[in-house]
Amino acid sequence: MWIEPRDPRLPQLGFSLMFLLDMVLRIAGGVELLTGPLLGLVLVPVVWVVTLLLPWRRMPQWCLAALCVVDIGLIGLSRLDPVGGSALLVVIPAMWLGFVYGVRGAVVTGVATVGLVMVPGLVYIGVTGINLSRSVVTTVLAVVVALGLANVVHRVRGGQEMIELQRRVGEATLDTVDVGLVLLDSQGRYTTMNRRHHDFIRLAFPHGHGGVAGQLGEVYHEDGETLVQHEDMPTYRATQGEEFDDHLIWVGSDPLTRRALSVSSRVVRDDQGRFAGAALAYKDVTDFMRALQVKEEFVASVSHELRTPLTSIHGFTSLVLERDDLPDEVRHQLGVVARNVDRLDRLVSDLLQTAQVERGLVHLERERTDIAALVRQSIEEARPAIEGAQLTLATRIPQHLIVTVDPQRFSQVIDNLLSNAVKYTPDGGRIEVDLSITHERVELVVLDTGIGISMRDRTHVFSRFFRASHAARQSIQGIGLGLSITKAIVDSHGGRIEVESEEGRGSTFRVRLPLDVPGERRPPGPGRNHPSDTAPGQPAPV
Ligand code: ADP
Repeated sequence: MWIEPRDPRLPQLGFSLMFLLDMVLRIAGGVELLTGPLLGLVLVPVVWVVTLLLPWRRMPQWCLAALCVVDIGLIGLSRLDPVGGSALLVVIPAMWLGFVYGVRGAVVTGVATVGLVMVPGLVYIGVTGINLSRSVVTTVLAVVVALGLANVVHRVRGGQEMIELQRRVGEATLDTVDVGLVLLDSQGRYTTMNRRHHDFIRLAFPHGHGGVAGQLGEVYHEDGETLVQHEDMPTYRATQGEEFDDHLIWVGSDPLTRRALSVSSRVVRDDQGRFAGAALAYKDVTDFMRALQVKEEFVASVSHELRTPLTSIHGFTSLVLERDDLPDEVRHQLGVVARNVDRLDRLVSDLLQTAQVERGLVHLERERTDIAALVRQSIEEARPAIEGAQLTLATRIPQHLIVTVDPQRFSQVIDNLLSNAVKYTPDGGRIEVDLSITHERVELVVLDTGIGISMRDRTHVFSRFFRASHAARQSIQGIGLGLSITKAIVDSHGGRIEVESEEGRGSTFRVRLPLDVPGERRPPGPGRNHPSDTAPGQPAPV
């Protein structure tokens, strides 16, 4: 409780001084003090000294009430004078009694004032009109003051209890959620933390935590091995006013007990918009991460195991197909086998690569590459399919365009975009391939007039295993890995890939790559990479 009125020394000093003032004024006014008031004058300092010496904190609470009753008795003594005396001082113990004991204090005030002030006064002076009025008014006033204060204290206590109750409800609610929650103040100090987060803190800081953001401990990056440095700690980032989601960390070093946490942060601002703190939520995603790891390992090993028999089927089919003595029907059937083996091989490659991308293993072997030649080569390889579907192809490709890329990976980007353009464009449609340098960046554009992608699906086409509803409905073959791999390759080259599309009208995929890799210099030579070296300015049918 916020009111702990256990020490009455100060109020008693106030009472004593008021009492002495009353006496001093009486003496100064020429009043000769009789036995009663004189006794009061002597006893007041004595009571004050005793009050000063008593160990109030260790004494039972009724002692406070006794002191107030003594004070009322002293006032009674001061009034034992034929002309009476001021009994207003009774307000002081009355306030104290109401404050500490509530309504019971008001009752004690009333009884003590009647017994020690009113009755002795009336007996000593006699029941005159003025004396009766003074006594009754004083008693009523004392009781009203005590009751008023009791009421105020009651309300304040009620408010305090309500706030306390709300605080406990809040704490209990926070403890029921299975997410670690932390509130930081503007200085980065921990102000509130729920039970779940205590568990995480114990794992991450086995040697204790100082309650301040950014403390280093057994906190690791997503790879589970690299320790997180001060400026990458989620709490530190939050105190810098950063808001984020899905910041993945591992806490604890023991493989059996460590947990993977996905952290989100939101900033708290005051009404002036200034940073007032931050709220952080730590979601335990250990099971999900472990399942993901198992899945990745499974996909990687299955794909790997499929590779060997596929290579052998591929090799032997090609060998048999080279023979001249094959009956036409067998040749045709073996051709079907060979095409399906190729498809299966591409699928397995995509799966293997996806597993590597998921583990952040897009390994690049960069070298200075004429990507114009790569684009032309991809087009040549796609030509049978393009012609088979009676598509018109227009290209705008420079003679040479030398950039530092991983040639194999970059070919994969072109192949994926081109094969999608062919796959998703109905017979008789049009495809354009455009390679240029725009704003100091290499830009590769693959445009088609095919089925297009709806606005809703467009945001997901670069996600793994995503297939737009339109494509799936039309039973166009695919598993939704090509674009996610393409994006990973472009990203790892420091580039970007974007798509513009309209359902039913076609799609445009645009890849932008930085022209120079830091630390690399383009070879001198008159405009080897310049668009002016390009073939005809207008797209030309090939
Ligand atoms: P896949 O083609 O094997 O399904 P991708 O990752 O290459 O996988 O493409 C993902 C999805 O994006 C496709 O399933 C298709 O719905 C859509 N998509 C990709 N390229 C095009 C395109 N040129 N035109 C229309 N839709 C496309």
